[in-house]
Amino acid sequence: MRPRIKFCGAAGTVTGSCFWIKSDAASFLVDCGMYQGSKTLKELNYGDFPFSPADIDFVLLTHAHIDHSGLVPKLVKHGFTGPIFTTEGTRDLLAFMWPDSAYIQETEVKFLNRRREQKGIKTVTPIYDQSDAHDAINQIKTIDYASWTDPMAGVRMRYWNAGHILGSASIEVEIADSAGETIRLLFSGDIGPEHKLFHPNPDAPDSIDFLVCEATYGDRLKTPLSPEMRRDRLAAAINEAIRSGEGVLVVPAFSVERTQELLIDIGILLREKRIHDSLVFLDSPLAIKATQTFALYADDLEDVSHSDTFLFNDNFVFTKDADESKRINAYKNNIIIIAASGMCEAGRIRHHLKRRLWNPNATVMMVGYQAPGTLGALLLNGKKAVRIQGETVKVRATITDLDVYSGHADADGLEEWVLDRMPVRGNVFLVHGEPSSLDSLRSRLITAGLSDERVVIPELDNEYELSPQRAEKTKGDTKPRIATATASRLDWHNDLAQLSLDIVDELEGAADERSRQIILRRLRRALEKDERPD
Ligand SMILES: [Zn+2]
Repeated sequence: MRPRIKFCGAAGTVTGSCFWIKSDAASFLVDCGMYQGSKTLKELNYGDFPFSPADIDFVLLTHAHIDHSGLVPKLVKHGFTGPIFTTEGTRDLLAFMWPDSAYIQETEVKFLNRRREQKGIKTVTPIYDQSDAHDAINQIKTIDYASWTDPMAGVRMRYWNAGHILGSASIEVEIADSAGETIRLLFSGDIGPEHKLFHPNPDAPDSIDFLVCEATYGDRLKTPLSPEMRRDRLAAAINEAIRSGEGVLVVPAFSVERTQELLIDIGILLREKRIHDSLVFLDSPLAIKATQTFALYADDLEDVSHSDTFLFNDNFVFTKDADESKRINAYKNNIIIIAASGMCEAGRIRHHLKRRLWNPNATVMMVGYQAPGTLGALLLNGKKAVRIQGETVKVRATITDLDVYSGHADADGLEEWVLDRMPVRGNVFLVHGEPSSLDSLRSRLITAGLSDERVVIPELDNEYELSPQRAEKTKGDTKPRIATATASRLDWHNDLAQLSLDIVDELEGAADERSRQIILRRLRRALEKDERPD
């Protein structure tokens, strides 16, 4: 049998990265990520894998982000017993990220089951729990960058620095096929931008047969910023928010990498007295663990003189428990609060937003991508009121967006990275992007000289047979779980949430009780069935 690749995730959408490679020698996965975003996508996390976990020989992980690694504990729960190959950095991050993800699954399901029991509906079980997460951690085998590893006869692989987050890698794989030929594949993982804080520029081999490349920012260009320019912009944003100590700045931040980038820059600005002498609370157990992990790697990271830079700034307060977190509420001004999650969908940031959004002396500053439909995106879009933990909260705080940090190469960076891999004898598969980013990167590559039929955008659960020169789409052995067209779209749940907020906005903005009654009457009329005869 010729080797085959099946796109079991991140096809036509960003999340759920998972590629299944089958050959006579082995059956293995590159990444096994969780789906995030719309409810339709998230439901895929609960369904069966399009393969049998017990039949998978090993797993290769490009990096620790949950959309690349988050379903590995589920794979283990359902019978996968083989090794999981990662870099040391990825292993150290997963050691707390998987248990944290399990904790989220368990609490979400507990909450859901309480409501299901009240309604008399069958309860559900979490996707996986703590013990599955720990079993998965025990199956990790670490490997060094740049050295070949043979997980089985007939397959070998090598990890390359992808410059995206701590431990991130692009993975080169060689597979011997039944005809005695060797097929070389390269999986980009997520590619970092040039001059990223902490990491050297991405690197990978050229002259391969097949390239599977991410396209997250395939349609976006970012102005390159020197570290000095980046810190100037951050200083200006902080000074505007804190003023001379009267303001409060709340920063929703991703725990891994973004939080550490902020801490480094804020630490430098404080030392250089370019911002007001404010306390900086890091209020997220996950972000604190990630920061401690980064400190362990301080010697390997670029732009870090020593681990003290993270951990021993007099102004930094890492909260130890929920009580300490609550005590932050007592501070009325002159503080910066960094809390997860980055898109305000979970975690302690929601408590802080609930307590601060109504207050005009607060500023909420987004420092990362806000997916459509998330609380972070609603705030950025200028919503006057939002729902948090069942309550409507008025937004009087200033909402800002500081777009100076990025873990991803932009469209120019991606194009350049792909062209540096040439020649690619077979196909370039574009994955991990919304349709517009995928199409845009594809057009760029064709303009740059790649032939039209070689640049492929696979759909979810598409399978291709690989011979050294080309990939041929097979009929596949399973039906696609959802149509790719629906993968990237917001579904009706998001629309409903948005509509509810709009109705509240409209009612609260109405002049008086009478106008509110008129709005409600109109809405009810819209719901009534049309009973006129044909
Ligand atoms: Zn990533």
